[in-house]
Amino acid sequence: MIFLNGQFMPIEKASISVLDRGFIFGDGVYEVIPVYSRRPFRLDKHLHRLQHSLDGIRLRNPYTSEQWSDLIGQVVDKNAGDDQSIYLHITRGVAKRDHPFPDVPPTVFMMSNPLLPPQPELLEKGVAAITASDNRWIRCDIKSISLLPNVLLRQIAVDAGAAETILIRDGFLTEGSASNIFVVKDQVLLAPPKSHLMLPGITYDVLLELVAENHVIHEVREISEDELFSAEEIMLTSSTREIMAVTRLNEQPVGTGSPGAIFRQLHQFYQQYKATHMRG
Ligand code: PMP
Repeated sequence: MIFLNGQFMPIEKASISVLDRGFIFGDGVYEVIPVYSRRPFRLDKHLHRLQHSLDGIRLRNPYTSEQWSDLIGQVVDKNAGDDQSIYLHITRGVAKRDHPFPDVPPTVFMMSNPLLPPQPELLEKGVAAITASDNRWIRCDIKSISLLPNVLLRQIAVDAGAAETILIRDGFLTEGSASNIFVVKDQVLLAPPKSHLMLPGITYDVLLELVAENHVIHEVREISEDELFSAEEIMLTSSTREIMAVTRLNEQPVGTGSPGAIFRQLHQFYQQYKATHMRG
């Protein structure tokens, strides 16, 4: 069952106007919220980021946090599977095609997809990534549904048989096409600082909290392209992929070419943290 503009219905019954500004202009924002054991993970953080995205595009939030929490709970209840990924999408609504903001209600859509744990083989071996120049706009902190640059950047990874495209802007690492990136250099875990040039990942925050709690030596600072290419370890994070080791970059091995010691440690911390959440 999906949620569309106040109603729950099977996805086959759901339709929106071709004049929806999401369709016409890509004028909207979204969130992806993982659900473990039927409990949304870090919901408050996702709702906070949603508010930031809505503020960024000057769209009024149609619901309070309590209302969102209740509606998301209903989507979870109406769908099978203990682990789900809730996709939440808000556009500026349906209006005659014209750039200025119309005075119409927004379109609000939510659906649930099964959330599968990363394949053991990928955890064991790591994944390949390629690099590309970050040619997106400079408000990458807004989780905009206008994802054409991300789609094109991700496809070049797929074409190269890789799992992710790591983006570089003006000589510095920003993030992946659909993930945040961490690097280990001289045994120090490095994370790029939040800015308008990257999405503030919820998993990125979890990881930084876990490394602080567990006294893993780390620095949040700009990471140069050279540091990326000479890194001992590279890892990616996202709500749906959790944490994965990048073991090949542009067809060259990263470090030893196998997931490194720091990745293994962080992966374990993450699984422990998830287990705590599931126990409530
Ligand atoms: N950056 C981009 C561009 C993304 O699309 C995503 C995943 N939605 C992330 C980072 C990771 O964010 P999160 O940990 O909140 O899933």
